[in-house]
Amino acid sequence: MTEAITIPAAPKVGFVSLGCPKALTDSELILTQLSAEGYQTSKTFAGADLVIVNTCGFIDDAVKESLDTIGEALADNGRVIVTGCLGARTGEGGSNLVRQMHPSVLAVTGPHATDEVMAAVHQHLPKPHDPFVDLIPPQGIKLTPRHYAYIKISEGCSHRCTFCIIPSMRGDLVSRPIGDVLSEAHKLFEAGVKELLVVSQDTSAYGVDIQYRTGFWDGKPVKTKLFDLVRSLGELGQRYGAWVRLHYVYPYPHVDDIIPLMNEGLCLPYLDVPLQHSHPEVLKRMKRPASGEKNLERLSRWREMCPELVVRSTFIAGFPGETEAEFEHLLDFVAEAGIDRAGCFAYSPVQGAAANALENPVPAELREERRARFMAVAESASTERLKRRIGATMQVLVDHAPGLGRKGGMGRSYADAPEIDGVVRLLPPQKISKTLKVGEFTAARIVGTEGHDLVAQPI
Ligand code: SF4
Repeated sequence: MTEAITIPAAPKVGFVSLGCPKALTDSELILTQLSAEGYQTSKTFAGADLVIVNTCGFIDDAVKESLDTIGEALADNGRVIVTGCLGARTGEGGSNLVRQMHPSVLAVTGPHATDEVMAAVHQHLPKPHDPFVDLIPPQGIKLTPRHYAYIKISEGCSHRCTFCIIPSMRGDLVSRPIGDVLSEAHKLFEAGVKELLVVSQDTSAYGVDIQYRTGFWDGKPVKTKLFDLVRSLGELGQRYGAWVRLHYVYPYPHVDDIIPLMNEGLCLPYLDVPLQHSHPEVLKRMKRPASGEKNLERLSRWREMCPELVVRSTFIAGFPGETEAEFEHLLDFVAEAGIDRAGCFAYSPVQGAAANALENPVPAELREERRARFMAVAESASTERLKRRIGATMQVLVDHAPGLGRKGGMGRSYADAPEIDGVVRLLPPQKISKTLKVGEFTAARIVGTEGHDLVAQPI
């Protein structure tokens, strides 16, 4: 008689990923490792054997959201591991904030801690005996749609901006070896990624910490340096007909060298440059990187070199000590610089940030009022730039196209990063044979604008 072999059910892990794209890449690494070891994921807290919450600790709203999520996971499941930026924060008296608020969590780690998280998982939910490693796709597990992906090139930050606590949570800059980054990018392109979004805390500083060490990729030496990285990623992307987009680029002089690569089609003529302010005194109080640079001149030189360039930036209104004159300097800057996509936060004190001790804090209502004034100026500059596109034909990467786009769809041009910028609303194609497919490019003629978005006719 043959004895039936029972395969024990794989343990199930619930996973919640909160926070920025850098936290998302940490989540992807943990999920990939869990899957590699044979764990399954559960869509509900109650259906899981254990829950991991990847938290964000950047601003007070994010802290609240993270603490609430941990509370829900504890109520519904009871067995919770916490990781991410909030896990690194201390509360009153100097002990761990998460443990103070939720003493029953099984383990707490900071960000970028796949090994520690896995050690906690092994301790509380021993791994299955026979992992089906072959079931893992070579590109790992992605939380983004199949056609775009974030790639993290470094961890941490060596600056000490006075409003930011990221360095205290994530440590100083540690660049990933260039060979590893290029090999991950290669796997992503092979898996069908059509847009690669380069992220880090300080993309311009890539390789500084390891003196731009020479690494290897595809049997050839290549320096751990932004220029070499972008050129190599671009050449790789071109083979797959994919876009490469750069985020968190500080306006250091050496970024000038990246602009010609845009003209060669090696990366998108798009830069996400978090400027935060324009006035030199405010930038000095913020201790911003590149605060001594002449940013207006730099932006206009970049635009001369590459007229297609789109610049996204974020700003802070009402930073401690900001005078009306300093704020007006910022308003003039944003109008003159023609920032295509501008975001603005009213300054909000983050627990543990050095800026909290600065003199002359701006009252909360005034901070909010300045934010609103800023957005009015920024939006009119940005709408005016958007309108210039009417009549142009652009390549659009399709994100959404039910029924093969017969009734239209949604996509993005090179000027729109996912989640943070506008979109291109695609009208139903006029030609009966024309279809739209998610993850493919279509040419489209821009026929109008709607707020931050464009309306286009696929051709
Ligand atoms: S550059 Fe400044 S704001 Fe950005 S992560 Fe570093 S310290 Fe924080």
